[in-house]
Amino acid sequence: MANDYYATLGVARDANADEIKRSYRRLARELHPDVNPDPVTQERFKEVTAAYEVLSDPEKRQMYDLGADPRSPGGGSPFGPGTAGFGFGDIMDAFFGGQQARGPKPRVRRGQDALIKVTIDLPEAAFGVVKEIQVDTALVCPTCTGTGAATGHQPSECSMCRGRGEIQSVQRSFLGQVMTSRPCPQCQGYGTVITHPCPECSAEGRVRTRRTLKVKIPAGIDDGTRIQLSGEGEVGPGGGPAGDLYVEVSTRPHAVFQRSGDDLHCSIALPMTVAALGTVLKLETLDGTEDVEIRPGTQPGHVVTLKARGVPHLRASGRGDLLVHIDVQTPTRLDPRQEELLREFASIRGEETVSTTFTRPEKEGLFSRLKDAFSAK
Ligand SMILES: [Zn+2]
Ligand SMILES: [Zn+2]
Repeated sequence: MANDYYATLGVARDANADEIKRSYRRLARELHPDVNPDPVTQERFKEVTAAYEVLSDPEKRQMYDLGADPRSPGGGSPFGPGTAGFGFGDIMDAFFGGQQARGPKPRVRRGQDALIKVTIDLPEAAFGVVKEIQVDTALVCPTCTGTGAATGHQPSECSMCRGRGEIQSVQRSFLGQVMTSRPCPQCQGYGTVITHPCPECSAEGRVRTRRTLKVKIPAGIDDGTRIQLSGEGEVGPGGGPAGDLYVEVSTRPHAVFQRSGDDLHCSIALPMTVAALGTVLKLETLDGTEDVEIRPGTQPGHVVTLKARGVPHLRASGRGDLLVHIDVQTPTRLDPRQEELLREFASIRGEETVSTTFTRPEKEGLFSRLKDAFSAK
């Protein structure tokens, strides 16, 4: 609005009569010529008084709320040159849908964003890759270069609305006669008609096209990350600027490694004899064959960490680790010879009969119970 009386008085649009009066009194005391005679303050005093004149009068206030300025009949400004009064268009805007832009709507508009999904393998996610992807999006029509008109033709001015894109009609209201407008039915509001549509795009200015794009996928990319390619999305109607293309990257499950953050995990099953005696295993990692040292006496659940053999960090230098989880396997079936040897082994270790030995979690439980018992005293 040209003059926001509510803002001038510093009150909310739903302020009641009391609030308006109080606010005016406060401002008037501050700005009154006896207190503050300088011209800038006096200009402000005039504005505040004008605002109060309108908002303190219920009839004038209602008129103002409907979009008309009761202080400026015929559009003249009460505050001298430089302050615009309310014109006819403002009243129309207030009644028929606010501050819409006037005139024909553009044929050329921005296109939509597009989303495409690619699946890559774990080594590609770890070290990065350039992928060729097939994209089906609208591109500028090569025949009409976006105008939508057949070769040798141009969109021409609409005869019904004469290029304005809207049809106006006069209606009566309590403010007198007002003009209403609606989109022109002949040109759908564009202001121009395409009498000879381009046969390739049917006047759309764009055509659906398959093309191949190269996408650089950075090393260390997370599963589900979207890469934004500016301007590679859909070309808009009328050959308008293209939206963006988003490439959503997901990683195929790997046969051996599971990723967790930038760490990789795998499990290796060892016969109990190997776990007891120790060995060096060859493990095929993302970086090639690596030695994994199994120390004698390795327990089930033990984890061997290969430093910096995981996924490179996406936004920093360095890499995650590769964690090898050891699973110790007990033989399920023994032939007589094996059983004999194992019994002999047990006998040497004095393990033919065993007393109950608590495993670690139980011990901890017992310890904490004991500790609680002591601290309770
Ligand atoms: Zn075309
Ligand atoms: Zn028209």
